Amino acid sequence: MISDRIKKLSPYKTETTQARIRLSSNELPLRLPEDVRLRISQEVSKIPINKYPDPNASALKEVLSEHLRVKEENIVLGNGSDELIYYLNMAIGELSRGVFYPIPTFPMYEVSSRILGRQRVEVPLDHNMDIDLNASLLAIKTHSPVLAFISYPNNPTGRCFTRSKIESIRQEGLFTVIDEAYFHFSKKTFLEDAVSREDTVVLRTLSKIGMAGLRVGILIAKEEIAYEINKMRLPFNITYPSQVIARLILTEFYTLIEECINTVIKERDRLFRELSQMEGMEVFPSDANFILFRSNFPAEKLYKALLDRGVLVRNVSYLPRLERCLRVSVGLPEENDAFLEALEDSLKSFT
Ligand SMILES: *Cc1c(COP(=O)(O)O)cnc(C)c1O
Repeated sequence: MISDRIKKLSPYKTETTQARIRLSSNELPLRLPEDVRLRISQEVSKIPINKYPDPNASALKEVLSEHLRVKEENIVLGNGSDELIYYLNMAIGELSRGVFYPIPTFPMYEVSSRILGRQRVEVPLDHNMDIDLNASLLAIKTHSPVLAFISYPNNPTGRCFTRSKIESIRQEGLFTVIDEAYFHFSKKTFLEDAVSREDTVVLRTLSKIGMAGLRVGILIAKEEIAYEINKMRLPFNITYPSQVIARLILTEFYTLIEECINTVIKERDRLFRELSQMEGMEVFPSDANFILFRSNFPAEKLYKALLDRGVLVRNVSYLPRLERCLRVSVGLPEENDAFLEALEDSLKSFT
């Protein structure tokens, strides 16, 4: 007796295609030196894996609270922010009320809403890939959703939406989730609102700063809100190895991550310039660690031509507003060079 809500879902698409250069999942191109890897393996070897981990992940939370400059009581951890998106969708408002988000955006907002059978109030972005405020306010008046998911910067378009537009939507009485998965590349945040207001929370993650394999997502909220969400948390949702490794990297090797982030930001700006100079190419400005671009050719054809040359990117052209668009993650300088070369070669082969 599987419900129609579930039967209508399609399995979540994750990228499994093999390629020499993978620039498809917005991971940080962090290469840990051998001595650091050794240190990690020593710490991991001490874990008593027959024992349950600390259900509150207190040691990791302590380090995160220092990094974020918020109290531990302001934090709820999830098995990736994906899990926290589920929790928020289950917790906020009655399930009979709708969920608002601009599209195209991160797919988990839709998936979690569908699973719960909540009405989805989806409003296409305007032609600058910003929130279409008039259309959003109209849709909110018509459908009265109670929860808004805002990817800030937005995946897959790359830019942070105009802040005052987000505030106008929140002003309509929607509980607003600001998903700051790419904060380290945008440096823009709603963190102050999250710790002081009852209608705003911020999501962060370790996934885009070099630790996607650990699955650690972070919700920051006012104590009262964090307390309620924490009740829903599955007891041991952060694994023992994840707690140990994340804490070690954040305390002892964080400078390696910062260096890599700085490299990616520089490379993002270089990639943007180089792509902009290519004929017939439309490139969208990015506050994140990926760039959206549109060529004159069918996206599937260009995607395949790049893959033939060993470079994997994400084909996002099936999404609303994104006809002929591909998304490329910013990698190490040599990876980006290989991408640019493959792109020029592909375009040349088409003419
Ligand atoms: C990558 C990404 C996440 C990360 O999810 P995790 O479950 O923490 O890996 C969350 N939100 C957005 C918008 C993303 O692009």
